[in-house]
Amino acid sequence: MSKQTIIEIHALRKYYGIGDIQVKALDGVDIQIQAGEFVAIMGQSGSGKSTLMNIIGCLDRPTEGRYILNGMDVSNMSKVQLAAIRNQQIGFVFQSFNLLARTSALRNVMLPLVYKRTENGGSLSQAQRGEQAMAALEAVGLADRAHHEPMELSGGQRQRVAIARALVNDPALILADEPTGNLDTQTGEEIMVLLHELHARGRTIVMVTHEAYIARQTGRTIQLSDGKIAHIERNGRT
Ligand code: ADP
Ligand code: MG
Repeated sequence: MSKQTIIEIHALRKYYGIGDIQVKALDGVDIQIQAGEFVAIMGQSGSGKSTLMNIIGCLDRPTEGRYILNGMDVSNMSKVQLAAIRNQQIGFVFQSFNLLARTSALRNVMLPLVYKRTENGGSLSQAQRGEQAMAALEAVGLADRAHHEPMELSGGQRQRVAIARALVNDPALILADEPTGNLDTQTGEEIMVLLHELHARGRTIVMVTHEAYIARQTGRTIQLSDGKIAHIERNGRT
């Protein structure tokens, strides 16, 4: 496997507010993540995990410091540029699934494909989007639920739909903010099995978790405390 650096973060700072009430959500963070790694981020509530994920996911910009994603300096890109990068390179999985209600699993997974362009710059036809979304649902073992709405699915199945949606654009990077946080232990384990499969097929995954036994299943755990890296631990897996 290549040792290409996919995430390179230097002296990253993110401050909220002004003057006396300034919050240093991230206060000088340096991180390098290689393509194909599976990394866990842990830390107490308020330690800066979501702020870091939002910046890694190009949903937000740093106050100071540099962020290089896949060789591209995205630190000072405009919101429009960041949206394009996000759509092409990053798949998101959230604790609360974030699926559209009253919308079938298939249609939820098709959504990110609206922005996808073919090699000659055209958009995908409805049929092409349907085929690619169905393939993503197959990859998470949910093809037989494609026409069900979120309400008709279990929590674990909803999270699988969300993972299919994260995968459908074939992103370099999957970001998961507590993907097992709303699931019972066994269902959470099933979602971890799925993330391990994606990792084994070469995906880079960065995942926030509160559970030490979940974090231990990844290659490395980055521990945040008060907006700084407290320590980085190698786990059993790589
Ligand atoms: P975590 O995800 O680890 O719980 P966050 O990244 O959400 O932590 O928050 C880190 C710190 O930044 C906290 O003190 C939080 O209150 C503050 N913070 C987060 N987002 C904002 C915001 N939009 N405005 C002001 N303060 C914020
Ligand atoms: Mg958070």
